[in-house]
Amino acid sequence: MEEGIDYSWPIIPKYKVCEHDKYGVRKNHYVLFKERAHSGFDITADYGTEVKSMAKGVVICAGFDGTTTEGFDRFNMGYGNRVEILNDDGKRCVYGHLSEIFVKEGDRVDNTTIIGKTGCSGGSRVPHLHIEIRKHNTEETGLDYTINPLDILPKIDFTEIKLEFTQEPYDVLWRKMASEVDPWGFSEDDVWYRDDAFYIK
Ligand SMILES: [Zn+2]
Repeated sequence: MEEGIDYSWPIIPKYKVCEHDKYGVRKNHYVLFKERAHSGFDITADYGTEVKSMAKGVVICAGFDGTTTEGFDRFNMGYGNRVEILNDDGKRCVYGHLSEIFVKEGDRVDNTTIIGKTGCSGGSRVPHLHIEIRKHNTEETGLDYTINPLDILPKIDFTEIKLEFTQEPYDVLWRKMASEVDPWGFSEDDVWYRDDAFYIK
């Protein structure tokens, strides 16, 4: 195992970061409508943004994952199209809700490898990239098994990012999520939209 490998952002954060995106406990998950831990960090992104690996490593799975820690749920459907990479430092990274995947199990990657494109698959209602960094090579998720990606990625001043997400038909929902209202008071009517949950384009 190699210590101290370089980590870089898989995409450049372009849109405002809201409470909902952060690592930790969410008071009112917008898909599950209840308190739930968020094991990663969400980067809202235009649909189809190229995603690079955060570090060098090897692809250990690539494909659709419709399960969640609470079992299969027709309304949530987990990470959707996701890539998992075992980095050379022993950490395991997950990239979720992709629209396209360009790598396969066994591929070697580094910080320059484009592993897929952002999307809205699985338990997602606004195009975004879910990044998750597990401390070890484990399939377990949750706060006990993961670290806050912001603790390892190069520092960014998110208060500098003022841009709002405007991609139709998602922007109304994004505005609700990015609002200061807490909890957001979503209903199922707000989060129905999903166009690519079951396939990789
Ligand atoms: Zn997430």
